Amino acid sequence: MADPREKTALRLSSLRQPGMVAAGAAALALPFVVFLLHGTPGRFQLLAVAALVAAFFVSESVTLDIEARSHAFQCTVSEVVLVVALVEMGGTWTALAWGTATFLINVRDRVSLAKTVVNVAVGVVQVGVAVALLRWLPAGDLADPLTWVAYMLAIIPATATGTLIVVAAITITQGYPGFSMLARLFVPVLVVYPVSVVVGLAGALLVERTPWAWLLVLPVVAVLGLLYRRFARVTRDSERLERVYDFARRVEQVGSDEDVARRMVEAIRELLNAERVALWLPPYLDEEPRLLVASDDGDAWYEGPSDPDDLFRRRATEGASDGPVLVSLARATEAEAAALARRGARDLLVASVATAAGEPGYLEICDRRSDVVSFADGDRAALDSMLTHVNAAIRQQQLLTQIRYDADHDRLTGLPNRQRLAVEVDQLLAADPVGGRAGLILASLDNYTEVTDTLGHAASDELLLVTAGLLREHAPPQALVARMEGDQFAVLLPGLSLPATERAARRLREATSTRARVAGLDLEVTLTIGVAAAPVHGADAGTLMQRADVALLAGVGKSGVASYHPVLDQQSLRRLQLGTELEQAMADGDIGVVFQPIIDARSSDIVSVETLVRWAHPRYGSIAPDEFIHLAEQIGRIGPLTDHVLDLALARCRRWLDQDIALSVAVNLSARCLTEPDLVDRVQRALRRHAVPGELLTLELTEGSVVDDSVRSSTVLADLHALGLRLSMDDFGTGYSSLSQLRQLPIDEVKIDKSFVLGMSTSQGESFIARSIIELAHNLGLRVVAEGVEDELTRNLLAEMGCDKLQGFLVSRPLADERLESWILARAGVRSAVPGMPHRRLFVRS
Ligand code: C2E
Ligand code: CA
Ligand code: CA
Repeated sequence: MADPREKTALRLSSLRQPGMVAAGAAALALPFVVFLLHGTPGRFQLLAVAALVAAFFVSESVTLDIEARSHAFQCTVSEVVLVVALVEMGGTWTALAWGTATFLINVRDRVSLAKTVVNVAVGVVQVGVAVALLRWLPAGDLADPLTWVAYMLAIIPATATGTLIVVAAITITQGYPGFSMLARLFVPVLVVYPVSVVVGLAGALLVERTPWAWLLVLPVVAVLGLLYRRFARVTRDSERLERVYDFARRVEQVGSDEDVARRMVEAIRELLNAERVALWLPPYLDEEPRLLVASDDGDAWYEGPSDPDDLFRRRATEGASDGPVLVSLARATEAEAAALARRGARDLLVASVATAAGEPGYLEICDRRSDVVSFADGDRAALDSMLTHVNAAIRQQQLLTQIRYDADHDRLTGLPNRQRLAVEVDQLLAADPVGGRAGLILASLDNYTEVTDTLGHAASDELLLVTAGLLREHAPPQALVARMEGDQFAVLLPGLSLPATERAARRLREATSTRARVAGLDLEVTLTIGVAAAPVHGADAGTLMQRADVALLAGVGKSGVASYHPVLDQQSLRRLQLGTELEQAMADGDIGVVFQPIIDARSSDIVSVETLVRWAHPRYGSIAPDEFIHLAEQIGRIGPLTDHVLDLALARCRRWLDQDIALSVAVNLSARCLTEPDLVDRVQRALRRHAVPGELLTLELTEGSVVDDSVRSSTVLADLHALGLRLSMDDFGTGYSSLSQLRQLPIDEVKIDKSFVLGMSTSQGESFIARSIIELAHNLGLRVVAEGVEDELTRNLLAEMGCDKLQGFLVSRPLADERLESWILARAGVRSAVPGMPHRRLFVRS
């Protein structure tokens, strides 16, 4: 008996008031019991009755299901046995045998007591009606065709009565079941049972002739039963196929913008006629895990499916390839029964669903809506076929999710991109247009372009990934980190005011400033940050982003963090203008230089002048180099600007040489110049053009530029040095290079940064730093220049410490060419050339 269905003829389902209906059925059956007992029972033959019970038991087990919505019935070939029994043994024993067989089957299938009572009562009533009619009808000699008619006329109304009782019970407990179901119910009464009666009569006739006829009758009944069973199976299979087709059609019809998963769950529930269907889907990309439930009561959640440790879910997802699994309470182990109980279910079909998420989904179907027919192998097979469509549909939806995800995420870092950020900002602000607060941080990597230029895109991509990781790690938990284009990232801080955003920005900048291993090198990660906040700076994504961008520009070269201010709009406009005018300004002579003398600390000889660039702008007046040097770097014009300054410096030097005066000139080189491949060439050509010997030129480099890995690994410093010129380390002490690092470089002198020198006359600590630098530098054979000497005290201190050269307002401010001439005339004397020195020298008269 492979089919685990509950098998009882015409059993009633879904009794809401089972006690009442059972009592009613028993009351109805009682008169028939009395009637049957008062008839002529005949002699009790134990063996015959037992055989009859067995015959009923077997015939009842071969069933054809009739199922409509939440009701299900089964009809059997028991009428064959019924006819033979009535003919051979009379109504009383027949009723007893049928009742007993029904009872046994109900017990075997663990049917509730109430339903067992109803089922037994229906059997008794049917036999009673048949016997009563047979008494009244001309049923005599079995060889007489009239008797056959009588049996037909007795049995058909009897089965109809049984069916009517069932209909009545359904109507009482659940209301009118509808015409189509009534029609289905009466099909066996009109089609199956008459055939059974004919077969039964034929059998009885034969047996009456000779008991050996059983040998003929039983195989016929068995074959009939088997054919019957086969028919039932074919019916079920074709129904199943129809359901799968139906399902496929429905899934196909779901529009792309509809929730495919939800529609599928509903379709499965309808087609498998289930109480409840649940589909659990794992998290995918930016989608949370989902539990979809379709049920009568509309509940969206129940215990079980979303629990990864649930027995059934584990069984389904771990044995994913074995197809759906069927579990029913009737044969459940203790653990299974517990897992069924937490769902409040009796039967369960579970299966895993293939997903692109790396983890399978899980589908479960609880309880047939009819409680007579539970899930069977056919349903398992149907579900298996449906799963192909489910898997395909889920895949397709995930593909759409992926496409959507790709459209608003950055491919490299996986972070949300600009479009996505804009949507998030707008959503956030739309939720509360008046009071809604949000901070927007825009961060750009300081050395991104250098890394790309010198180490290539693979390295700069790696740097971006490292930065993305740092930002994600250090951004507050509620923040949204996004990647803008190029080297820019953004951090959205919901609910933060402007001051809070500024604090967060500073913290973030500090936390992310590290050195990171990129492309095998130790690279510096520093961010420049621009801050804007809603509602003070704007109430939509476009404005906020644009203003954070303006703030970012302002942050460049300053403290590293700048907030938006309306003035900045003007400033960024001015930067834009300066950028476009730079080239022309050089050509027009608006960009010129001033010179600041540097003297020997002991002899007061004027040994050199530092060339400092100036921009005399027709509208803005004099512009400080701090403002446009960085701009020139950013727009890639620092090379021409440096050449321009170098040209003016060497021209000045040449004129002194023409007066037979040797005065060296110093020119500042920005860090970026050192990575220009033709720098050495350009410097050499400039020296030649002005016929200035290399030793009269000093190039001032910043610490940052020489510790740069790409500079250290190139020969640029050595090549410059080979031209005979001097290399000076500017702003020494502000960076992180140590003097011992400098030893490996062809550096000739260091300039103590003016920040230490300016404080020397008042701070012992500053003096101490200056003294240490001087001592250490001398130990390494380096000359030391102190810049920013403003007073006598400092000058004396430095001279006493052994500092070699001095530069500062005390000696002179930076002076334009003609002012420098008059300064020299007024303040300097000329030393004549001495042996070994080809030129005359200037000195400051005291
Ligand atoms: P720097 O190379 O450190 O130049 C010295 C700066 O200190 C100059 O400012 C000078 O005017 C100022 N200074 C000199 N003596 C004193 C003093 O006694 N007290 C004080 N408080 N300041 C003093 P300036 O001219 O504004 O230049 C600023 C920076 O701009 C320079 O710093 C340099 O880094 C850069 N720069 C100037 N000209 C050029 C150039 O032609 N090319 C490049 N790449 N950078 C330049
Ligand atoms: Ca300098
Ligand atoms: Ca300096």
